[in-house]
Amino acid sequence: MADLLAQLEALAAAARGEVAAAADPRSLEDLRVRFLGKKGEIPAVLRGMGALAPAERPRVGEVANRVRDEIEALVDAARGRLEAARLEAELSGAPVDPTLPGRRLLPRGHRHPITRATEEIAAIFGRLGYEVASGPEVELDWYNFEALNMPADHPARDMQDTFYVDAASLQGAPREGAVLLRTHTSPVQIRAMLGRGRPPIRIVCPGRVYRSDYDQTHSPMFHQVEGLCVDEGITFADLKGTLAAFARAFFGPGTRTRFRPSYFPFVEPGAEVDVSCSICGGTGRRDGRRCGTCKETGWLEVLGAGMVHPRVLANGGLDPARVTGFAFGMGVERLAMLRHGIDDLRLYFENDLRFLEQF
Ligand SMILES: [Zn+2]
Repeated sequence: MADLLAQLEALAAAARGEVAAAADPRSLEDLRVRFLGKKGEIPAVLRGMGALAPAERPRVGEVANRVRDEIEALVDAARGRLEAARLEAELSGAPVDPTLPGRRLLPRGHRHPITRATEEIAAIFGRLGYEVASGPEVELDWYNFEALNMPADHPARDMQDTFYVDAASLQGAPREGAVLLRTHTSPVQIRAMLGRGRPPIRIVCPGRVYRSDYDQTHSPMFHQVEGLCVDEGITFADLKGTLAAFARAFFGPGTRTRFRPSYFPFVEPGAEVDVSCSICGGTGRRDGRRCGTCKETGWLEVLGAGMVHPRVLANGGLDPARVTGFAFGMGVERLAMLRHGIDDLRLYFENDLRFLEQF
């Protein structure tokens, strides 16, 4: 019994010294667990009581309780001391000004309006059974011009001046002519026909194109969506129905379409397609004033289209005697500008949040 009593007194003495020396709440808690916890040192001593005579047990129990109470009181006191010291350090440290404005949360981003318009156009054609195709932005002359019925001396090339890759930097001149940045997404028509081989072919191709232009309505880089539908028995009526359905889906259910004869080397016949003005509803007047978006005509020119030229079908490896098709191309910036009434295309590329946040 004397042995157990001595052990308890030794624990009490050790706890007095160590608790007084604890420098932070964490080491204090460690000490509490070490002495008083279920697997701590006091319970370990008490487990030795089983070997004592019954008459000796109350005395040991009494001392054990006293020692445990003392250690608990020491820990509580030390905890209060540490907390007071922490508060004191905080009060005498760097001042906190609770009247300062809070940190602003960063605004949430969203996709660029051109990306959103492109995805929306592709989704509309997706519902009409078209799949999305893509092609290289650095293109060969043959795909960009020649195969689309625009030979080297063709005047239509003047309207699509572009950027060329310096021939000296290439390892050997490609058979398909100069290497250039594509001026339209139309070369994907040729690649799709050659790549897929067998009609039906129904693709839309969104992507970046390049021309050496720069003013309020032209940028050296802009976005187009190309469409191509080739199969046996495709007619101009299919073209009209498809584009009318697209116009209603993109500009609103009441939108009307108008086809004007036009010329593009890669279609025959070709047409410019107008839609009724989405800003003034096709009336040409808005709030009693002239509608600036359609210049009071009530119509907006939105895309070019036509029946694929037989020579283009042949360049795509198809038999023009057996299949026909239509193609169309539209500028994404222009479509988004017309829908939102934006008058300067360059706003899309200046990345000014005051502009981008309006979408
Ligand atoms: Zn208008």
